[in-house]
Amino acid sequence: MNKPVYLDYAATTPVDPSVAEEMTKYLTLDGVFGNPASRSHMYGWQAEAAVEQARRQVAQLIGADPREIVWTSGATESDNLAIKGAVGGWERPHIITSLIEHKAVLDTCKWLEQRGVEVTWLQPQGDGRILPDQVENALQGNTVLVSLMLVNNELGCVTDVAAIGALLRDRGVLFHVDAAQAAGKLPLNVAELSVDLMSLSGHKVYGPKGVGALYVRRSPDVRIEAQIHGGGHERGMRSGTLPTHQIVGMGKAFALAGDLLEEEMGSLEQLRADFLAQLADLDGVTLNGSAQHRVPGIVNLSFDRVEAESLMLGLRELAVSSGSACASATMEPSFVLRGIGLNDEQAHRALRFSFGRFTSSDDVKFASKHIIDVVSRLRAVR
Ligand SMILES: *Cc1c(COP(=O)(O)O)cnc(C)c1O
Repeated sequence: MNKPVYLDYAATTPVDPSVAEEMTKYLTLDGVFGNPASRSHMYGWQAEAAVEQARRQVAQLIGADPREIVWTSGATESDNLAIKGAVGGWERPHIITSLIEHKAVLDTCKWLEQRGVEVTWLQPQGDGRILPDQVENALQGNTVLVSLMLVNNELGCVTDVAAIGALLRDRGVLFHVDAAQAAGKLPLNVAELSVDLMSLSGHKVYGPKGVGALYVRRSPDVRIEAQIHGGGHERGMRSGTLPTHQIVGMGKAFALAGDLLEEEMGSLEQLRADFLAQLADLDGVTLNGSAQHRVPGIVNLSFDRVEAESLMLGLRELAVSSGSACASATMEPSFVLRGIGLNDEQAHRALRFSFGRFTSSDDVKFASKHIIDVVSRLRAVR
């Protein structure tokens, strides 16, 4: 059997071959394998230089100072560090987030809520976005942090983080943004967005899994409490020996993403337009999430009169993701789709298609033709 066409770039991306090649130079005896924290010899110095170069590359993609980048094991850890780290030390803190954040934010906030932190869960608009007014109206005297994602991983919609950041900066409330799905997809600048903390992941940007970063603003200094204690690495915010090869991979991937950003935005926009135009032959297809405020690589569609589960079974030649957690025993429909107001039935009819660097127009043609065939067949047998 041929491998299915990969249309699940929002779940993870393949490592770019040039990134993989670079990473292999930081593992073996003839490469740079030293501990970047070793100060007494060349092995350590070379590894440290490689880590610092990667730090500059990641910082550059988001308009940050390299000293504002803290390495982590991925965006999940970055989210945990940002949120738990920011509320630590406050007497009775209040945080604001939304119902459609990534689980790394939702579950962290729930965990804090069970321990006495007050949490406001904002309900997004029907198009998946959180409006600045909603955030403003939820602010309290004890609000210490707002945590919102820039690009939603299931819907691809984009929240106006710059407007929210501006109003929070005026009020001295910290702003954490999960930008795992935004980096390399949109131009990003932490100063323009007035963001204090930003989570990033390597493997959503053609880098390796198991590495990420947290941007922590320096001037004025944002204070967060460490969640992992040890040798005091990363200016005390995150201890643990730095994985040089992973970090070098993420740096190279972010540099590449910056170089290719404009070109890729254009080509993904074209793929999306082609995909939707090809599917226009099919009636009863609804786009979930904003049609205007979105990244081009993620397309979430509901198909009338077709269960996503049956559709996925019919679409074995495509690797896509269902909004509903079909794999789970509970068959819970996606909390994101329910969060934007879809009922269970509508949520059970949604599939997410996500495109990326190695998606060809033939892949998209193959996918749309296949979808039309299977949806038509499933509808006919009903
Ligand atoms: C993938 C993703 C994460 C988790 O990132 P990991 O590096 O896999 O831990 C967090 N937030 C969003 C929005 C994501 O898409």
